[in-house]
Amino acid sequence: MTTAQLRALDAAHHLHPFSDTKGLNAEGVRVIVKAQGVHLWDSDGNKVIDGMSGLWNVNVGYGREEIVEAVAQQMRELPFYNTFFKTTHLPAIELSRLLAEVTPAPFNHVFFTGSGSESSDTIIRLVRHYWAARDRPDKAVIIARRNGYHGSTMGGASLGGMGLMHAQGGLPIPGIVHIAQPYWYGEGGDLSPDEFGLWAARELERAIDEIGADSIAAFYAEPLQGAGGVIIPPATYWPEIQRICRDRNILLVSDEVICGFGRTGEWFGCQYFGYEPDILSIAKGISSGYLPIGGVMVSDKVAETIINAGEFHHGYTYSGHPAACAAAVANIRILRAEGIVERVRDDIGPYMQKRWLALADHPMVGEARMVGLVGALELTPNKATRASWPVETGTVGLITRDFSFRNGLVMRATRDTMIIAPPLVISHDEVDALIACAKKTLDDAWTEVKRRGYV
Ligand SMILES: *Cc1c(COP(=O)(O)O)cnc(C)c1O
Repeated sequence: MTTAQLRALDAAHHLHPFSDTKGLNAEGVRVIVKAQGVHLWDSDGNKVIDGMSGLWNVNVGYGREEIVEAVAQQMRELPFYNTFFKTTHLPAIELSRLLAEVTPAPFNHVFFTGSGSESSDTIIRLVRHYWAARDRPDKAVIIARRNGYHGSTMGGASLGGMGLMHAQGGLPIPGIVHIAQPYWYGEGGDLSPDEFGLWAARELERAIDEIGADSIAAFYAEPLQGAGGVIIPPATYWPEIQRICRDRNILLVSDEVICGFGRTGEWFGCQYFGYEPDILSIAKGISSGYLPIGGVMVSDKVAETIINAGEFHHGYTYSGHPAACAAAVANIRILRAEGIVERVRDDIGPYMQKRWLALADHPMVGEARMVGLVGALELTPNKATRASWPVETGTVGLITRDFSFRNGLVMRATRDTMIIAPPLVISHDEVDALIACAKKTLDDAWTEVKRRGYV
């Protein structure tokens, strides 16, 4: 079939996630046909660098035979069995053990889910179950942040702080409160990053004072906000959040769906930022996306209560799916055997950060930031004032995103912020190629916004 025929069929029958279907169908989708390493190919034969690792998840890159083989073998042996009724299977046992090994010391128990969103829904139920089991059923409110992202189910979208998502379908569900995000570039005003980090953390304290600690179950946050625009909190933020959660006896949930499995150069984002959560949400990089799987890890303190609280009336048919567990086991073995996380911390991370941060010299870039292998560029018509564009938010981001693909690089746009999160196995030469594409893209976009009179 030709690309045009494939596009027509897709338009006829496929409703895409997070897409304006009518606009998309008019423009025509890109058909991705294969991938290897850090590269994708579309149906017209264009080869592009996948600067987003799929959706932030293909940490070990494409084409890893070890994962393919592990899954094929598992599918032949036992393609499915459940873990509900006094049964388990080898891949679930092996993955649970591996997860206990790679997570920080207090984490030794995992509840399996099929995705990050299912992990979010599981955690809402789990933290309330935890407090009820400790005779504190009133501790039920969960505090999260504006512009956070925790998935797209009712629970996940409610925990998230995305206004456009809340506006559809009557969200958030009751019992979830949102506070400010630690977004210094966008909201820090005249405060220094450190002052603003403290201010944003103390928004949690103010919310607790208002609601009452006796009503609050947990604070729920990403180590750095991914979908919100790779928002990296100032250094003062996490220590203060940690202090507040401890002082007020509130569980701290770290949504590690993007940061987990090496993205920041540590195994988990909480290790990079130096805090100690009670619960971890994991998905994406756990299997590098080869098969869908997620999980919720609980610290020994939480586990003890849950284990002694009788039945937890919760679970998914695909909790601990054998083939998905086999994919995750093979993926984690690759991360370990090849020292990929350490390589991000000591070698390729610093190498790319240096080049990425230098993009801040471009006339269109208000700020460049990066941690491990996840970063962003804030686009602005005026570097000195960090002004926003005199057109609808997101217009310049989309222009830039389209140039980027044409130049051979997948970058994502959130508002007018460009985002990058390449596979952790990217080579030095591939980083050089990526940076060259990004530079050319900025030049092209700068010419275009001037032509349109936005500057
Ligand atoms: C992607 C994401 C989720 C949701 O995961 P899905 O697998 O898409 O359901 C949750 N939290 C964070 C931080 C994410 O980036």
